[in-house]
Amino acid sequence: MTDSPRRLVFASNNAHKLSEIRRMAGHRFEILSLEEIGCHDDIPETAATLEGNSLIKARWIKDKYGYDCFADDTGLLVDALDGAPGVKSARFAGEECDPEANMALLLKRMEGVADRHARFRTVVTLIMGSETFTFTGEVEGEIATERDGASGFGYDPVFIAAETGKTFASMDADAKNAISHRGRAIRKLFDHLSAI
Ligand code: IMP
Repeated sequence: MTDSPRRLVFASNNAHKLSEIRRMAGHRFEILSLEEIGCHDDIPETAATLEGNSLIKARWIKDKYGYDCFADDTGLLVDALDGAPGVKSARFAGEECDPEANMALLLKRMEGVADRHARFRTVVTLIMGSETFTFTGEVEGEIATERDGASGFGYDPVFIAAETGKTFASMDADAKNAISHRGRAIRKLFDHLSAI
């Protein structure tokens, strides 16, 4: 008899993130989306840090729906922009959270800028019973001068990973997961869950 996978709620409805995380979970964990638990709330992301927003999302689900769960929050930190867009990455070009507008604004701000170094940072918060755990992941790279590639989501077409020299949008899902900010944070989460 095989063990059934452990169930955990991921506090997101982002189809791209869900697909990345389910790919990493394999048969070990069953990852439920917010839609699958009947949550259609617009969870406020009002904290000033990635840690704060990730905690707000996980806390919301645990308190209101009772599930053990994890949430992530990600920022793109660009050196030449003093760490912007950072915690405001989703709303860089406005409240519509439009990835095309966000990339267009980023490329415009970076026009003629020589130092293109940037990093993605993800903070994952896990709430299990009365315990809260935090896992982080980062990936170094630089901002491209133009979009390249059609995979992934968000800023993927303009982020060139230092380890491959390619944009995330030019890499397949497994190659991105192997080195990405979220891949690194989620592997720490799954290692933790496997050990308890
Ligand atoms: P959030 O974690 O969903 O709040 O993401 C913040 C912003 O970063 C959004 O604009 C996302 O599209 C973008 N983002 C998050 N993860 C990634 C990624 O893996 N690649 C590219 N953009 C991302």
